[in-house]
Amino acid sequence: MSCRALDELKQQISLLDYLQAHDWQPTRRLSQGRLMGLCPLHCDHKPSFLVDPRKSLFYCFGCGRGGDLIRFAEDYHQVKFLQAVALLYQWRGFAPLLDEAAGFYRMQLHRHGEAVAYLHQRGVRSPELIEHMRIGYAPGGGLRGWLMQLGHPLQALRQSGLVTALGYDAYRHRLVFPLEGNLYGRSLSASAPPHRFLPGSKGGLYAWEQVRRYPEVILVEGLFDYAVLWQAGFCNVTCAMGNHLNAHQYRQLCDSPRTVYLALDADTNGSGQRATQSLACRLRERGVKVRRVALPVGHDPNSFFVGGGNAHEFHRLLDEACL
Ligand SMILES: [Zn+2]
Repeated sequence: MSCRALDELKQQISLLDYLQAHDWQPTRRLSQGRLMGLCPLHCDHKPSFLVDPRKSLFYCFGCGRGGDLIRFAEDYHQVKFLQAVALLYQWRGFAPLLDEAAGFYRMQLHRHGEAVAYLHQRGVRSPELIEHMRIGYAPGGGLRGWLMQLGHPLQALRQSGLVTALGYDAYRHRLVFPLEGNLYGRSLSASAPPHRFLPGSKGGLYAWEQVRRYPEVILVEGLFDYAVLWQAGFCNVTCAMGNHLNAHQYRQLCDSPRTVYLALDADTNGSGQRATQSLACRLRERGVKVRRVALPVGHDPNSFFVGGGNAHEFHRLLDEACL
């Protein structure tokens, strides 16, 4: 890889844009346009992360890390240089596309009664929650035309997985939840596979930037579990999108001392409980305190709330959670 290609990459992606796309917010403005905020690379309680948007450089007074965009991507994703460059190339190509696709899906949500009805059925009611999670709906047509009209070539749409090889919208009759670098689609129809992601990684833990500062974190399996807990006032909840954590998600949970409440599904076949058990062991080996939340058998946090459970009762489950 030539120095010129790297310089070009750094010119095309501003460090500030990249930080903000990963949920970083400045808390203070300093002279010469520099910004301070919480450090996304360590568990930071008072803002110690300095960004100079003009030079596209950062420095953290807490953990001592600093450098340019590529160094940030290396530290943030905990990958080596070449992999960080590859991630940035991918992000540069797909981020605007995924953003625009998510925008299209969001416009569709309230035009499709069946989508809103499904959300209600899963306990998702508050407009703040729909806004917070940027929930949209893929009716099964219209996306391709919309994106091409915005100037995206068909080839790019196919590469991203938004459009099939035959040129149809890939997500049909699915609620769509934007993730970091991906879109999760939940099918409304029982005849289609319920869960889908676009090709590539499902990314890190859901909404991790907002959650990581809490000393106690609740981990759930599904985004509908996340949704009902958030709606019930639990802001320290995050979601792995499945009961298996990828390496990135695992590192996130271990990145500083905290207590993790595991609230995975209490499946009747015991698979959620086994996943909980093995995850609990692995986290403890890394010094993370773990408490297992015992949901009634056959329930997940979503069905617990949809079935009439409330925040008070869930608090009690947290208090009773065993080590
Ligand atoms: Zn730091």
